[in-house]
Amino acid sequence: MREVLTEASRRAIQYLEAVQTRPTVPSHRAIARLQELDIPFPEESSAPLDVLKELDEVGSPATVATAGGRYFGFVTGGSLPAAVGASVLAAAWDQNAVLEVCSPIASALEEVCRRWLLSALGLPSGVGVGFVTGATMANFAALAAARHAVLGAAGWDVEAAGLSGAPPVSVIVGDEVHVSVLKALSLLGFGRERVTRVPVDGAFGLWAAVAPTRRNLTAGIETADSWATDAHKWLNVPYDSGLVFVREAAHLRAAMSASAAYLLEGDRREPSHFVPEMSRRARGVEIWAGLRSLGRAGLADLVERTCRHATCFAEGLRAAGYQVLNQVDLNQVLVSFGDEDTTRRVIRRVQEEGTCWCGSTVWQGQPAMRISVSCWATTEPDVERSLATILGVAAAEGGR
Ligand SMILES: *Cc1c(COP(=O)(O)O)cnc(C)c1O
Repeated sequence: MREVLTEASRRAIQYLEAVQTRPTVPSHRAIARLQELDIPFPEESSAPLDVLKELDEVGSPATVATAGGRYFGFVTGGSLPAAVGASVLAAAWDQNAVLEVCSPIASALEEVCRRWLLSALGLPSGVGVGFVTGATMANFAALAAARHAVLGAAGWDVEAAGLSGAPPVSVIVGDEVHVSVLKALSLLGFGRERVTRVPVDGAFGLWAAVAPTRRNLTAGIETADSWATDAHKWLNVPYDSGLVFVREAAHLRAAMSASAAYLLEGDRREPSHFVPEMSRRARGVEIWAGLRSLGRAGLADLVERTCRHATCFAEGLRAAGYQVLNQVDLNQVLVSFGDEDTTRRVIRRVQEEGTCWCGSTVWQGQPAMRISVSCWATTEPDVERSLATILGVAAAEGGR
């Protein structure tokens, strides 16, 4: 084990050092080499060091450089050093975060993180928190808690009786609703099309609450009954890590508990009482490490810094005459390079060029490049280099 872990960390260090300079996307050659993994199930055993070697030599070049500072696709955070390190330790621990008796440390870290997160985000202190795989499952858990509460108030025990014959429930969503909410509605039996849409603006951004100069953007969120967010995005912990917060912790508990008899109560936190899964990894470990290393000031700086980088992108693009479609309040920039074809061509060329990676989206009917700055590792030189690349490609593609 000593040899394997030493070798794994040597290779991981080498990877993370190279990721700052290599192209953000794998080469065609690296992707083609993946077929080397496509062998019949081996009859014989292999030495762990050989397995690592194969994984690193074939696998590492075929990764997308999301751990580096110039990946601006989707909303994809990197991983903080403390969180990556904690993840290694957590792998060695191999804890099952199902019940406190299986892992007192997993239970304790979740409870500490619960308090820290509520304090950082300005949410009420009694709020229940579940450590889920991502925002999709956070939306699922929050909606299940809502289903319990709404139908319970109508005298219907949905966990016991199901939805057949239940009183009707109206679902209202914002016009910018994320597809994961609709997916969660379909999983919960509400149907993703039986929704009423209402106008909004804004679709994301709970982490703005941790940054003093951005907190005003979240005014009013404290009146919600539940909140869903990702830790693997802006908090920069490894996948998979999402958070569900429910004001009435009992509603989340009721919706997530397997059965009253199976899960006997103690006075310690039972991690699986707040999430859909039972046996699961102790993902609170990395969240704890990330929060512990950042502290309130570091967390605010992470958010402020990434927002400032986004503003730099927006200013540079505007100065060159391109149309930034959104008001850049946070870490997202949506830019058009002219007509739809030109915009799509610029995005494709930037992606192929490899200095940075930006995705495409359609926002309020308009095709756009989306630049999302969500990684702690992004530096000012990363932004300058990426901006120069985007502007160069756009000029060559006739965007202006
Ligand atoms: C990323 C995202 C989701 C989905 O989260 P997963 O972690 O991919 O499950 C949902 N809503 C918003 C606003 C997001 O940004």
